Amino acid sequence: MLTSHPAPPAMFQLQNFINGQFVPPVNGRYLDNVEPATGQVYSQIPDSDAADVAQAVAAAQAAFPAWRALSAEKRGRLLVRIAELIERDLERLAQAESQDNGKPVALARTVDIPRAASNFAFFGTGIGHFSSESHFQEGQSLNYTVRHPLGVVGCISPWNLPLYLFTWKIAPALAAGNCVVAKPSEITPATAYWLGELCQEAGLPAGVLNIVHGTGPGAGQAIVEHPAIKAISFTGGTKTGEHIARTAAPMFKKLSLELGGKNPNLIFADCDLAAAVSTSIQSSFANQGQICLCGSRIFIERPIYEQFKELFLARVAGLTVGDPQVETSRQGALVSEAHLNKVLSYIELARQEGGTLLTGGQRVQVPGRCAEGFFLQPTVFEGLAPDCRTNREEIFGPVVTLTPFDTEEEALSWANGTDYGLSATVWTTDLNRAHRVAHQLHAGVVWINTWLLRDLRTPFGGMKNSGVGREGGLEALRFFTEPRTSASSFSGPYLSLLALR
Ligand code: NAD
Repeated sequence: MLTSHPAPPAMFQLQNFINGQFVPPVNGRYLDNVEPATGQVYSQIPDSDAADVAQAVAAAQAAFPAWRALSAEKRGRLLVRIAELIERDLERLAQAESQDNGKPVALARTVDIPRAASNFAFFGTGIGHFSSESHFQEGQSLNYTVRHPLGVVGCISPWNLPLYLFTWKIAPALAAGNCVVAKPSEITPATAYWLGELCQEAGLPAGVLNIVHGTGPGAGQAIVEHPAIKAISFTGGTKTGEHIARTAAPMFKKLSLELGGKNPNLIFADCDLAAAVSTSIQSSFANQGQICLCGSRIFIERPIYEQFKELFLARVAGLTVGDPQVETSRQGALVSEAHLNKVLSYIELARQEGGTLLTGGQRVQVPGRCAEGFFLQPTVFEGLAPDCRTNREEIFGPVVTLTPFDTEEEALSWANGTDYGLSATVWTTDLNRAHRVAHQLHAGVVWINTWLLRDLRTPFGGMKNSGVGREGGLEALRFFTEPRTSASSFSGPYLSLLALR
């Protein structure tokens, strides 16, 4: 539970980044920030509210005319510079991400921080290719569409991939010429704070990016409610997304909502079993199962069910749960005690629903400095009905279920049988089946014989309760811009409507 208090005792204190400066919250109140691996408070963050958001919006509004007037090339260069600084500081940022989130430092070093740098580099260079459209109507008219930045936009991100997802929103918003008010998760604020420092060093003009720390109901709600913020790009839980949509709808704000998932992983008998097992270990337990794209429901064609299970469990036994700052740890801590308790309650539910626990299920006591940390064994169940709550609700932890299937139709109907539709994975060497099944899966992303692979140019997002809209590549730039069309006629001002096609 986060508690807010006045200016804290000597401890590392994060500040908001507003108008190019680090500033304390207007109300002087701070929240404790806990290290998941130790359970100890190790820093404090501003408990910001509407007053801080108002300052951030004012700074962003003031910075907007000059920022949008800067050429795409110059904006792009600044973003590429930020990418270079993230790369320069990769090790420091990876350590900070690991400490703040509980994820293994090796994961932060190889995935989270490099992707944060790529986000800036990708949109910094890509913006030069984002051109206006024109339509020439033979001898009659020229129509052209220019995409304008929206103005001030809000970016709100979750705790599971902190800098990765924060920058995934901020970079395209800035590239497109917007100014940003951004809020990282209050549970993992550290690398967002350091990003402010790197933006200062890169020479990003004051007010172009403003980072406000605080809780969802406090700072987050104030961002969504602020009438000058034209669009909200949100990644987080489905319930929060629903709440944000309700708040923003009367103001007709543009919304991009990237929400929860309960992703199926379909293993057909003709697959490359070794590859399917080893990648399924990743898709089940990477980041302690706290990736929205984790495949937590594994459906296995019956002829290879026992073989898959045996190989899979042998690999689970080899996953070292331990201090995330130690290089050999493969499973770090869950992000908070509250989240650990939520996941444990789902383990209890799975038992009540008749599941057989194949491995795991218990909190882990890691000796030494991590004795109070929020560690959990990787957990595998079988014997659960495909439509039970355990198999329908997002657990967002290292808990997966194994279920045998007999036909492709059965696998598809179970895979599609939840309210979510974020991602899915198919393992088969039958090319026709791979594409036939992928075509019928209700998911924004389907991986065939792989997982988590993604070209930054491709659209990303979910169907059903997994979200509204798409991010990535051109989709992100389209979201953060508004098309305005102009038309001129060559054949006089009173062009016959009938002549138009
Ligand atoms: P969350 O919804 O609790 O919080 C996400 C962010 O929203 C945080 O910054 C939080 O402070 C803020 N927030 C909370 N209430 C708010 C409000 N009323 N107004 C404005 N902002 C508010 O989610 P979480 O627990 O941080 O993250 C886990 C969830 O995120 C999971 O459901 C996971 O599937 C989802 N997720 C989705 C994707 C995706 O791309 N679809 C990626 C990562 C995580």
